[in-house]
Amino acid sequence: MFALLRRIGERLRPRPEPLDDARWQAAVAACALLQPLNPDQAARLRGLSARFLAEKTFFALGGAELDDQRRLLIAAQACLPVLELDYDLLRGWRQVLVYPGEFRMRREHHDEETGVVTEGEDSLIGEAWEGGPLVLSWADIEQDLAQPHEGFNVIIHEIAHKLDMRDGGSDGVPPLPPSLPRREWKQVFQQAYDAFCAAVDADEETLIDPYAAESPDEFFACLTEAWFSNPALVAKAMPAVAGLLQRLFRPSAATTGN
Ligand SMILES: [Zn+2]
Repeated sequence: MFALLRRIGERLRPRPEPLDDARWQAAVAACALLQPLNPDQAARLRGLSARFLAEKTFFALGGAELDDQRRLLIAAQACLPVLELDYDLLRGWRQVLVYPGEFRMRREHHDEETGVVTEGEDSLIGEAWEGGPLVLSWADIEQDLAQPHEGFNVIIHEIAHKLDMRDGGSDGVPPLPPSLPRREWKQVFQQAYDAFCAAVDADEETLIDPYAAESPDEFFACLTEAWFSNPALVAKAMPAVAGLLQRLFRPSAATTGN
């Protein structure tokens, strides 16, 4: 029964259109993170990107301009973190919303201790909800393309949240392969997080964006974007965390290329 349902589901899934060479090469030329991939990795990422484009629906909001090339640049970077994992980790949501720049979003904040709920509007460059859309600012994507090794990548940051939420809840622990024990992950990340928060509280200069001290899930998202953008920076700042990120995402050429 389940097998049958799965087969029906597969038939309903849109068939990816193959990406033509010129279009793919233009994306590689524009995105430095794609350039160190070996031919096998590049071919697989190209296939995953085509699948992402077929399965997700893109919306340009607030006057954003989206064309095929921009959609592909988003798809390729979104698929990079799952290149050595499982594409199914990107399932469970359909929409990619793109704003021209920062966007404002209504937020509710529940204070766990007092139970008080405050509402406000935040200015954001990216957002991801469980089962909901991926929301991105094109201006920030463009900045990441122009400065690919600064440790920032808004697309990969939001995809890290998506992976984190895949096993229920945003706790900074994504679904892990059997070779990566959950207990080890939690221990290493907790220790690094505590030390990082102490450094930020003490106003110390940090190699990693201080925003990572916001919460364990932001810590994971910031470290993941930094890892893909500049793995040497993460290895220098937090060698134990870098070791785990390397074991999770595996040493794809993209993460060892600089
Ligand atoms: Zn975040």
